[in-house]
This record gives sequence, structure tokens and C-alpha cells, in this order.
Amino acid sequence: MEISTLARSGLKTIPLLVALATSSVAGAAAEVAAVAPAVLSPASGSLAVRCGRLIDGLSPTALLDQTVLIEGGKIVAVGSSVTVPPGVRTLDLSAQTCLPGMLDLHTHITDIPQNTADFTVYPRLSPEEHLAIGRPNGKATLEAGFTTVRDVGTYIAGLDREMRDEIDSGKIPGPRMQVSITYLTVPGGGGDMLLPGFPKAKAKTPLARLRRGVARGPDEFRAKAELLVADGATVLKCIASGAVLALGGIPGAPEMTPEELRAVAEVAHKHGLKLAAHAHGARSVKEAILAGADTIEHASLIDEEGILLAKEHGVALSMDVYNGDYIDTEGRKQGWPAEFLQKNIDTTEAQRQAFTRAVQLGATIVFATDAAVYPNGLNARQFRIMVQRGMTPMQAIQSATSVAAKAMAWDDRVGALVPGRFGDLVAVKGDPLADITVLEHVDTVLKGGEVVKAL
Ligand SMILES: [Zn+2]
Repeated sequence: MEISTLARSGLKTIPLLVALATSSVAGAAAEVAAVAPAVLSPASGSLAVRCGRLIDGLSPTALLDQTVLIEGGKIVAVGSSVTVPPGVRTLDLSAQTCLPGMLDLHTHITDIPQNTADFTVYPRLSPEEHLAIGRPNGKATLEAGFTTVRDVGTYIAGLDREMRDEIDSGKIPGPRMQVSITYLTVPGGGGDMLLPGFPKAKAKTPLARLRRGVARGPDEFRAKAELLVADGATVLKCIASGAVLALGGIPGAPEMTPEELRAVAEVAHKHGLKLAAHAHGARSVKEAILAGADTIEHASLIDEEGILLAKEHGVALSMDVYNGDYIDTEGRKQGWPAEFLQKNIDTTEAQRQAFTRAVQLGATIVFATDAAVYPNGLNARQFRIMVQRGMTPMQAIQSATSVAAKAMAWDDRVGALVPGRFGDLVAVKGDPLADITVLEHVDTVLKGGEVVKAL
């Protein structure tokens, strides 16, 4: 959600290939077993998947009648004449289209939209209570076909890391995650949970934990960025300009200075991490690019000069072009502050027009939705907007697979159905190249060769 943004970083933890000992997985296994006896051993991570049509995330066209062989959780072969070793079971998806597990590079998986109506919920509930609310989002996201997310902000610093650790240890289902711990933001900025008048004595989440990434000046930002890396951030997230879902602040107006942006970029890169910079305004977009940001979040009011600058510097645009519809309908029903609703109107159509221009100019655009502004798990609703606004269906799919994986520096492990990457695979009935909305109803999901969901 973007009241503010977070940053996270880091590839310190490679997600474990674990058997997801959950009722949903067991249920899925039972269903598939009925179709193809003894196909699944949830702990094996080895499986041959027969795909009627295959979009591998990299090739410009789909391939027919392909087999994806997964051993030990990783893809070892893909082709039309793959030999399946003895003892490896086959999952027959010959009536479906297979794609790589999808990626969303802008989520807030620990949060829910209802919290936006009243920010005092953040101190009023304890971190454990917030985590209890957020846990089901992991299952919803994974079962929607998103096997990897880059989570760019929780107001309760570190809640994202706690959820990731539960997922990676097999305690709960969920996607692979990069985590930003919290937002790097100026006092009163888009990522600052300032709650004037809220009685500190009633806070079940300490206000210090809600403001862990607040800083002013390059030196303070450098120190805070180092703190978040020490906390376990695997990507850093900063709020360069005002936010839509924040009280006060103008989405187009700069909040961090170029020197402050440069300071956090330097810390991120020193630790081998990416910097995701929240920037709505044309000026902030350019300042963030020149300061060293790796992705620009929202980019709502980016101009042509900014688009070309992003291309020149190899910076990807994370444009969340769906959620404006949700804010304007459901947010209004839920009684979100009038200021948020107006700022949303001010940015939604402008962002969609900028998106079209960015596609025309050949900028790199990654699939990024700001999940938690709308309910986590509905991420795929953004595809239809991306195609309506200028992408081909294949471009939209690649933005959520190989292009996204490269932008988060995980193209060695996810984002394509090719040997060496994790056996993360989704399948749908129908052809997403003919109708992109079929991705809103994923039928089969594999993570690391384990069946998470099946017809
Ligand atoms: Zn956000």
C-alpha cells in the first residue's frame, strides 16, 4: 500500500524447498492423485509436467506439447521429447497453458485494505495481531499464481521478514519474498506513521517500531538504511515523493532530497541490494533515477524525459495501474479519507496515460500492483489494464515473469521455465495470449515442484 513505501533488500535467504504441510496442499494432492494415480509426493519436489501449451517467460511465442521436468525442486529439462526418469511422476496438464510462477514486484503482503480507513489500527493492534491478519494473504497470493513477490513496505517494521520466515520454514503457505523491513522516509513523509494525538500508552505496537525508517539528511538516511539491512532487509524502499494514501503530502511533490536518495542508493548497492524508490512526480522520478534507484514505484506523473532517462539508466518502472479502480469503488464504500480518494483520482488516469507512453517508448516495465491497497490475491486483475493500455499479452506476461525476475536480481532462480530455475509453474485453461483475463483464474500452481493448487 502506498502510504509510503518500504525498502527491502537482500538475497540472504534462498527460500527453502519445503513441503507445505497445509490442508490446502493436502487437498490439492488428493485431487490430482485422483486424476493421475500416485502422481504426487508432496515432499519430493520431483515431477514431470506435461503442458499442452507452454509460455516459458522468455521466448516470444508459445510452444505446444512440452514437458517440464523438475527434480529436487528445480527445473532440469524442458522440451517436446524429454525423457522422464523412472519413479518421477507425471502431472498431465495437456489441456492447459503452462507459464512460470508469476512475480509481483510491489506488494504489502502483511496488510489489508480495510486498515486504510483508519491508520490508528497500526498502533492499536500488536505485531502478532497484525501478523495474524496478514498470514492468509500468503496463501491467497500463492494460490493466485504469484510464487514470488517483492514486498515493499509494512508500517510495523520487520513484520514482512517474520512472515517470510514462516513461509520459508513451511509453517504457512506463501510466495518467495524479498522484504524491505519498512519505509525509508522523511518525518511526516509518505512512509511515516505520524499519529498526532494517539496516546502512546495505548500503543500495542511501539511507535518506535512504526517509525524505524524515518530520517532527515543524508547521514541519517545512511544510518537508517544500514539499520534496515542489519534488520534483514533484502531490498530497500524509499519514499522520494508524496504519496496518495497518506495524510498530507502531495503525490507529485519531492519529499527526499537528491542527496538523501543517493545516500540510500549507496547503502543498498554496497550490500548488493536493489533500491525501490516511490516517486509519483516527474521531478522526483528523475531525481531518483539519477541518484541510483533501480526501480521507480508508481511513476504516476512521469514525463517523456523521465521515461527516456529510465531507459538510459536501465531503471525499471513499477506502475500499479489497476488499484485506482479499487480505491475509487471499494475504498469509497469503506469510508477511506476524502483526501485519499481525491489524490487517487488525480493520479489514476495520468498514470495510465504515462504507462501507454512508456510502453510506446520501450521502457522496461515490471508487473507491480501495490497489493493491500486492494486485497492480496487479486493481483492478476492488473493484466487487463496493462493490455488495454498498450502492452501485448506476451509483454504483460513477461513483465510478470522474466522481466520482473531480472529487475529484482532473481533471474537466476525464478521468472522462466528453463533449466536451473525453481519449479515454480502455473497453468490455466484457455490461452492468455488470446484473453489475458484467464490469468485471473489460475487452475494449477506449483512452487519448487510441489503442487500447491490443482484442478
Ligand atoms: Zn506500496
